[in-house]
Amino acid sequence: MSSPSPFVEEVPEGIPTTLDWVVMSADMATIHAAQRYRCIVDLWDDAIRAANRDEGASVLVERSVRLEVASALRITEHAAGRLMGIGRALVYRYPRVWEAMSRARITDTHATILVDGLDELEIVRDELVSEVLERAEQMPTGPFRRTVKRIVDREREATITERHATAVAHRHVRVDAGVDGMAWLTAHLPAVEAHAIHGRLTAIAKTLDAPGDERSLDQKRADVFGDLLIDGETGSLPDTARGIRPTVAVTVPAFTLLTGDGPAAQVEGVGPIPLDRARELCGAASGWMRVLTHPETGVVLSVGREQYRPPADLRRLVAWRAARCMAPGCGIPADRCDLDHTIDWHHGGETAANNLAPLCRGHHTLKHHTDWRVKAKSGGALEWTSPAGRVYLVHPERRIPHFTTDPPGPPPF
Ligand SMILES: [Zn+2]
Repeated sequence: MSSPSPFVEEVPEGIPTTLDWVVMSADMATIHAAQRYRCIVDLWDDAIRAANRDEGASVLVERSVRLEVASALRITEHAAGRLMGIGRALVYRYPRVWEAMSRARITDTHATILVDGLDELEIVRDELVSEVLERAEQMPTGPFRRTVKRIVDREREATITERHATAVAHRHVRVDAGVDGMAWLTAHLPAVEAHAIHGRLTAIAKTLDAPGDERSLDQKRADVFGDLLIDGETGSLPDTARGIRPTVAVTVPAFTLLTGDGPAAQVEGVGPIPLDRARELCGAASGWMRVLTHPETGVVLSVGREQYRPPADLRRLVAWRAARCMAPGCGIPADRCDLDHTIDWHHGGETAANNLAPLCRGHHTLKHHTDWRVKAKSGGALEWTSPAGRVYLVHPERRIPHFTTDPPGPPPF
């Protein structure tokens, strides 16, 4: 059976519990899935060898095998084609990944994310496979997917400016018919604008909380979207909903900004953007939260027991550090989360960076009303202990850079 990955800190000893059986059967399913990939590739290879008559046969062989697999497994040909593609990639291009899967060190989903991500690159170095595989063995699928995206973006960074320019040229808006009198309005936009639009819709929608208004946030966002585009103004909305401008966090390493060289600028949750675009955003008056990886001094890291509500810059800092809900595997962005005092305020917890973490509403409720226990660890990490006694360590997306005149020691936050 697989050994626990570093995301799982501790598994209690003793007689297997029902949860242990869940884990073991999931591991067996993964091992069988690895074998299924291998067999599908073998089947395909046999068919290629048997038909080794002319070049053009290979496409037909592939189709024939695809139908064979789809019929035998009672799945769609599309799904069968996916299995064949992922299988071939694992067996021939990433054999170490197949190996890890066949030992249940990673799941089928991890393997699929890895293949899809790395296949976007023209050249995949061996060290890159090792780096991604190591993450796959440690992370839940949600954070792993984001990490792979970031690594792939980093690898493609060199050409981001040209690729972005080409992509921007393909921007468009279109309407597709839906059913039941509905339709899809899709806009393909530069990521910064798309997020700014979504951010503004969300911010305005959240102000619409008149008594008796039972619309969901999604419905309100859609209504505001229509109002703004059709009438071009927010006059029909309450005063509180006017003049809202979204915040899109752009992380620009200070060094890159100064020299034009170094790690690329990133839009939170989106990926790298061209440096001149980032410069433009950082020069803009307001509405853009600038997070320089070299922090501006004077940020309040703690107000102790002085006040329950964290000051704005502390909130921003804690949200920036975590980027997302700090529950295991959760992907809800920090700006849609509650800021939770890890040790309750009522139990003497301080309003400080080392006692605050964003939790989405669901996980916030879970923390307070179930037997899950949460402890703050160094570097902004949270240690979650499940009711079954399993311990998981959730790391924030980033660390707060720590500057001090004190003698070196472990960072306090
Ligand atoms: Zn959550």
